[in-house]
Amino acid sequence: MLIVMDHLASQEQIDAVSKRIRSLGLMPQPIPGENRVAIGVLGNHGYVDEEPFRDLSGIQQLIHVSKPYKLVSRDFRPNDTRVTLAGNVTIGWSEAPVTIAGPCAVENRDQVLTAARAVKKAGATVLRGGVFKPRTGPHTFQGVGYEGLEILAEARAETGLAIVTEVMRIDQLERVAAVADFLQIGARNMQNFDLLKEVGQIDKPVMLKRGMSATVEEFLAAAEYIVSEGNEQVVLCERGIRTFETALRNTLDLGIVPYLRQLTHLPVIVDPSHATGRRDIIGPVAKAALVVGAAGIMVEVHPEPAQALCDGPQALTPGDFHRLMRELDTLG
Ligand code: PEP
Ligand code: MN
Repeated sequence: MLIVMDHLASQEQIDAVSKRIRSLGLMPQPIPGENRVAIGVLGNHGYVDEEPFRDLSGIQQLIHVSKPYKLVSRDFRPNDTRVTLAGNVTIGWSEAPVTIAGPCAVENRDQVLTAARAVKKAGATVLRGGVFKPRTGPHTFQGVGYEGLEILAEARAETGLAIVTEVMRIDQLERVAAVADFLQIGARNMQNFDLLKEVGQIDKPVMLKRGMSATVEEFLAAAEYIVSEGNEQVVLCERGIRTFETALRNTLDLGIVPYLRQLTHLPVIVDPSHATGRRDIIGPVAKAALVVGAAGIMVEVHPEPAQALCDGPQALTPGDFHRLMRELDTLG
């Protein structure tokens, strides 16, 4: 429930409401607004009875929130969340869009450093690269593991790029978080609730990718798991969903970008690489993502796509990526 206070409500009236909420075994969360204060009621597992609030003054309205998410909603926090990576990259709805680029997977030092230098030169500010890869079948490249973290750290030290890499399991979290600036939770793990709760307890920004068949409500409910543990630095990533259409790797649901902007204060970025699976389609789709207001894009770039151990068909070459970035510059 959300309790909207009257614009003339005094601090005593606000405190009295908070006290009443606590007396019911629930948690008040004051949400200061421009004209009035609202108080979120947290910790309830069902409908919150209005009766205990009837004798309190200064309340304008009681709003029942029936959605499975609250903390990530605009109702609870009208102002945009700004997610800051390594002190120098900020992701938010009203910030300049960020570009995350790099290989699908960390393969070796040369590959990562070459990719890092190229994407930095073209204007990216975050380097991607998975050291653990969630692959559809077990007979394919599964990632180089922890030693890949050192390669990413070296690329960061040389280029100044922030680094994002995927964490697949709880037991990987500590070591990955010790190096990465930004933790990726992949589509296949969007509803790994134990993992979500764990990343919610650490102080490191998280990129949550939309599950392949997740609805918007499920996507936001998954983010709520992270935020409700205390970590508010969450970026959502639309990466296409599974539909009847098989022409491209996935079906990019671009309409949800402006829709999510209404529903949540968390920024949303778009991954045109996994959304399309084809390097010749990525450019126009990346532009479309920025036109609908995405807070950034994440694009796979490989020095030699034909040699890539993972997702080669959707990897841009450094030259392709440079051209794309110049085209994106003209969008303004
Ligand atoms: C990736 O970003 O390399 C990846 C595996 O993405 P997703 O989880 O969206 O499939
Ligand atoms: Mn990939």
